[in-house]
Amino acid sequence: MRVEMEFLGSGTSSGIPTIGCDCWVCHSTNPRNKRLRSSVLFRIGAGENETRLLVDATPDIRLQALRADLSSIHGLLITHTHADHCHGLDDLRGLYWGGGREPITLWAYPESLASLKRTFAYIFDADYEYKGIVKIDAQVFEHEPFEAAGVTVQPIPVVHGNMRVAGFRIGDCAYITDTNEVPDSSIEKLKGVKLLILDALRRAPHPTHMSLPKALETAEKIGVERVFFTHINHDLEHESVNKELPEWARLGCDMLKVALEEDGKITVTEPDSNGRPLPIAF
Ligand SMILES: [Zn+2]
Ligand SMILES: [Zn+2]
Ligand SMILES: [Zn+2]
Repeated sequence: MRVEMEFLGSGTSSGIPTIGCDCWVCHSTNPRNKRLRSSVLFRIGAGENETRLLVDATPDIRLQALRADLSSIHGLLITHTHADHCHGLDDLRGLYWGGGREPITLWAYPESLASLKRTFAYIFDADYEYKGIVKIDAQVFEHEPFEAAGVTVQPIPVVHGNMRVAGFRIGDCAYITDTNEVPDSSIEKLKGVKLLILDALRRAPHPTHMSLPKALETAEKIGVERVFFTHINHDLEHESVNKELPEWARLGCDMLKVALEEDGKITVTEPDSNGRPLPIAF
């Protein structure tokens, strides 16, 4: 089973460039330094049988769906409910229409679903009078693997300050954002993962996110073949940081696709090598 993870966004909560910032990364003309809010699209299988699972609904989801040529999904996996990960929930109506107005199935921790129901009460209100909104079929998970549109997803709990965030493992690929600590019990659940996307906010330690050194150490502890970092702030300039990193580790960037092929090989498709424009303007 081929599993691809496409970076819809690789930036921290403010996005890069950050409003009002004069730093050189925010003013870089290199498209790889333009970062929408962090999200990936899992593409499992290929062609007609491809299953698309979206991770999080960022405030940038409209742009992310347009530039990824994404018009429908088979499910939505929620990591946690900080605004940069879920405030695009309303804009999923485009994907709901594209999917033939079948409710979008959303999977989340119980506390995340409760939080979404408070923030987006109208979406979960069956009697809401305005009909032009997304329809959601809400499901919860805890520790056990669950089936999302026929795909087995293993939730991986990680620590994000005082809250838990869900990472997701599908086959031997995993996506983990917004964490300062991956507990040993979760490292165990990640054993055998070959391809990982992991939070690495900046160089210096941070109370709720991984620093670059800590992220490298965590990826090594899991024993992955390749790791790509996400949720990156303006401390990390794409090209110069990538030159410092070991061969098996790289900063992710928007529109990058990384895949674990059926034969076990990892393939990396740069945003400008598949005919699509780089994300230079928004
Ligand atoms: Zn975040
Ligand atoms: Zn900046
Ligand atoms: Zn967060």
